[in-house]
Amino acid sequence: MTVPTVARAARVPFYDLQDLHAMDGVQAEIDAALLRVSRSGRYLLGPELEAFEEEYARYCENAHCVGVGSGMDALELTLRALGVGEGDEVVVPGHTYVATWLAVSATGARPVPVEPEASSYLIDPDRLTAAITPRTKAVMPVHTYGHPVDLDAIEAVTAPRGIPVVEDAAQAHGARYKGRRIGSRYAAAFSFYPGKNLGALGDGGAVVTSDAELAERIRLLRNYGSREKYEHEVRGTNSRLDEIQAAALRAKLPYLDAWNARRNVIAARYTEGLSGLPGVTPPAVRSWAEPVWHQYVPRTTHREELRRALTDAGVEHLIHYPVAVHRSRAYAGTVPGPLPRSERLAAEVLSLPIGPQLTAQDAETVIAAVRHATENSHV
Ligand SMILES: *Cc1c(COP(=O)(O)O)cnc(C)c1O
Repeated sequence: MTVPTVARAARVPFYDLQDLHAMDGVQAEIDAALLRVSRSGRYLLGPELEAFEEEYARYCENAHCVGVGSGMDALELTLRALGVGEGDEVVVPGHTYVATWLAVSATGARPVPVEPEASSYLIDPDRLTAAITPRTKAVMPVHTYGHPVDLDAIEAVTAPRGIPVVEDAAQAHGARYKGRRIGSRYAAAFSFYPGKNLGALGDGGAVVTSDAELAERIRLLRNYGSREKYEHEVRGTNSRLDEIQAAALRAKLPYLDAWNARRNVIAARYTEGLSGLPGVTPPAVRSWAEPVWHQYVPRTTHREELRRALTDAGVEHLIHYPVAVHRSRAYAGTVPGPLPRSERLAAEVLSLPIGPQLTAQDAETVIAAVRHATENSHV
């Protein structure tokens, strides 16, 4: 694997797609794929999409993949295909990206949040039962930051009640739970937003499922409810993964495992370098999980001091996410009762740069900046 040496604005950029595409000659492969589509005369629902769907289903160790317009559409269309709508409830994590909740709201159903575990970022399976009512039509856990949730613990609650689990796998391409790929179970929604572990050159998404009928219903929904031109069986929408995006994703998919492995090396180095620092808690990895480190997110009680030190050292960083979803203006007042754990995470999480394009030296620069901040302050 070749690591890029391009001139950079920041000393350590958060996630530079030019750097990423400069690795392993993939930019040339993407360019060739774009040209192939451009000259093919087929731009929608064509051979690139068909091939990508087959390749990505195989990658996920599952039977069916349906490409759609975005990760949020993948979630929404799966819920709609399951018949979720007005008057229904869908259980979601309190700590997640807003799109998880918005996908539920888009169907007309109500998102019902569940708090994360005390010592992780993941939805707490022990709190699931209390959130389920006769209106619950699905449970939608998120593999937050690329770390798999405990799917068996969740299914122990949902399966006896006949409630489907729709995984929000937008951050977990390639991750494994108990040795099996995320996406190898009933239904998982992926995003190919450019910054995701497998990213397109624009918006894109997919549903991967073991259920042929569910896949067929999503295929209908993504294309105006139509199988045959001008025969409209249901009130669908227009949400298709186009040929350009499918071709670009096909060029990048063969590198995904190596790229995730490289994220893992950097994450391990971060955890080693940040352990034992006062006021900083590196993310833990559970025994069942092979995470893919979409983000590397320590918690810190002294976030502003660390941010200043990182900025001074030229290290870009972000906060995923600074406002708990139920505290956003979009959802304020819709959730009865507080969600103290979700709110506390919003105040304490800090995303450090991570990606296959980061060099070992970049990782040392980041670690040194954090260590410097904790050693020279009142953290
Ligand atoms: C990115 C993301 C989405 C939405 O995906 P888009 O392709 O941007 O619509 C949904 N859920 C989570 C957890 C995400 O990170």
